[in-house]
Amino acid sequence: LGPTVTIGEILVEIVARQTGTGFREPIDLIGPFPSGAPAIFIDQCARMGGAAAMVGVVGDDDFGAVNMERLKRDGVDTSAIAVSADYPTGSAFVRYRTDGSRDFVYNIAKSAAARLEWTPHVEALIARCGHIHVMGTVFASPAAWAITERAIPLIKARGGTMSLDPNLRKELLAHGQTEEKFASLVDKADLLLPSGNELFLAAGMDGEERAIEALFKRGVKEIAVKRGEHGASARQSTGASADCPGLIVEETDPTGAGDCFGGAYVACRRLGMPLRTSLEFANAAGARNVTRLGPMEGAGTRAELEDFMARTARRS
Ligand code: ADP
Repeated sequence: LGPTVTIGEILVEIVARQTGTGFREPIDLIGPFPSGAPAIFIDQCARMGGAAAMVGVVGDDDFGAVNMERLKRDGVDTSAIAVSADYPTGSAFVRYRTDGSRDFVYNIAKSAAARLEWTPHVEALIARCGHIHVMGTVFASPAAWAITERAIPLIKARGGTMSLDPNLRKELLAHGQTEEKFASLVDKADLLLPSGNELFLAAGMDGEERAIEALFKRGVKEIAVKRGEHGASARQSTGASADCPGLIVEETDPTGAGDCFGGAYVACRRLGMPLRTSLEFANAAGARNVTRLGPMEGAGTRAELEDFMARTARRS
């Protein structure tokens, strides 16, 4: 039915090599790494062998080129990624605190990523996509939201499907009408990929079983619950389910785990793989990605993920 598409921000990430707090003094930095939650998702989707495309904007600069080259190399259709002559590619500086939390300095609001528009290239791409993956970062960008709202019914009208990774960080919830927008997306989603308390936020109630049942009643057909180092579970409204323990890895950089999980999961399911196999690949994609510094440096091909699973122990 056509590729999986995602819409949103593309940026570079520059990471501090030491843990500490803030950026008030000179420190060792490494980067630029290609980044942006939708870009990480779609890169992993393509690496897994899924047909993948992205709608986005980069600047006419090296940071934009870093992203375009990576996405093209990994097989993403970049025909609807515009290159802005007037706005630079966004960036995010990240430093890990000793407690594992992160400090960010973002340069995104006034970057090329905020200039998303519905162009003839976007129109042509959406007209041939079979699946749309929506991520919570869309709530922070009026431009991305407008394109997403327009694309969903077009893709659904041709028999396509939709997945939703709530990705609801505190910063996102602060944006106007996020809760209403989120609820409207949940009602349209075929597949939901929540982590942390997002399952409860989506359902509007606590208790995993209750929340899942309530979401199935609202039309969601499949839910993949991400549990960080504890692995993941998948459930279908038909009653099928699968659970996957976490793989035991050394976490070097947690950024992008959920996005890689989603990219692999959606790719596998759309390639027709069974629930359990898809969950295993997704679990491995998330785990492998945290072992590498840089948001998408650990995204893996099918062969790389198979190799990684074969030599990595699981939690009991
Ligand atoms: P999100 O980034 O969306 O909050 P998670 O942190 O739950 O998502 O990570 C997504 C998936 O990646 C997990 O469900 C798990 O499969 C894998 N994963 C993430 N962190 C680890 C880890 N430290 N060890 C093993 N697997 C991990």
